[in-house]
Amino acid sequence: MEVDPKKCVACANCVPVCPMGAIYIDPAVNRATVNLDECVECFTCHRGMSKEHLNPTLVRAVRRVAKFFRFRFEPEPDVCPTDALTPQELAWPRVVRRAFSDPLVPHESTGIHGRGTEEVKTNDVTGRVKEGEAGFTIEFGRPGVGVRFRDVQKMTTALVALPVEFEDKNPVSSLMTDRATGALRADVLDEKVMSAILELKTRLEHVPAVLARVEAVAQGLRTIVSIGVSTRCDAAGDDRLAPVLAREGYVFFRGKTNLGLGRRPTPANA
Ligand code: SF4
Ligand code: SF4
Repeated sequence: MEVDPKKCVACANCVPVCPMGAIYIDPAVNRATVNLDECVECFTCHRGMSKEHLNPTLVRAVRRVAKFFRFRFEPEPDVCPTDALTPQELAWPRVVRRAFSDPLVPHESTGIHGRGTEEVKTNDVTGRVKEGEAGFTIEFGRPGVGVRFRDVQKMTTALVALPVEFEDKNPVSSLMTDRATGALRADVLDEKVMSAILELKTRLEHVPAVLARVEAVAQGLRTIVSIGVSTRCDAAGDDRLAPVLAREGYVFFRGKTNLGLGRRPTPANA
C-alpha cells in the first residue's frame, strides 16, 4: 500500500486505522507515509475507509486558512478525503503478505479465505486427526504484532526432530522447500504477515514433547504464539487428550466440539 503524495492532505485519519501501525505522517514532507517493511498488505486502510474525491489543493488551502484562524477543518474520521491510499501491484514474494493478511483473499495453495485453512473445524468430514492422534494449530502473530517467516521457520526446523507430520493442505506447509528439515522458501523469510498458522499432527504420546518444544522455541521469537490442540473422541465419546494436557499443567478449555453431523460427499456428488 502506498499514499499518493499529490493527493494526501495529511489529515492523519488513516494512521489509527492501520492494525500494524505502519502509517505515519512524515513531518519532512507533511504527507502520510507507509512503512513498507511493516505493512502487511492487509488492505484494511484502503477497504475500511470511505473515500471522498475532494480537490487536494483546495483541501490544503482550507486547512491552512482554518489553522490561521485557530480552528480546524477535519474530514470525518473514517474518511480519506482525497482517495490518496493507493494499492500497488504486488509481485512475488511480497504478494505473500496479502495472502496471509487480507481475509478476503483466498490462499492459492488451498483456495480458502482467511488464514487459508479450515484447521480441524471440519475434522468430522476431513478426518485429518484420527483416534490416538493429536492435531496442533500453532498460530504466529496477531494484528499489531505480525510475524516474519524467518520466525516461523525457527519453529518448523525445531519441530522436525520430533515425530510430527505437517498438514499438506496448509499455506505454511506450501512454503516449505524441504519437509525433512522444515526449511521454508528463502525468498519469503523476510516477508511480514499479520498471522500464519502452522498445522501438524502427532501421536498422543508425543504431545508433551511437542508442547515443550513449541514453548521453548516461542520464547525466542519476536512475535506471539498461540497453540490449539485437538483430538478425536473414541466411540464412547471419551477424550484421551484432556488428561495429557492436565498432566502437563495446561489450563485448557474446550473451544469446539464437532458432533459428527458433517458427512463425506458421496462419490456421485464429490
Ligand atoms: S486519510 Fe488520506 S488524506 Fe488523510 S492522511 Fe491518510 S492518506 Fe492522507
Ligand atoms: S495495507 Fe494494512 S498494514 Fe498496510 S498500511 Fe494499509 S492497513 Fe496498514
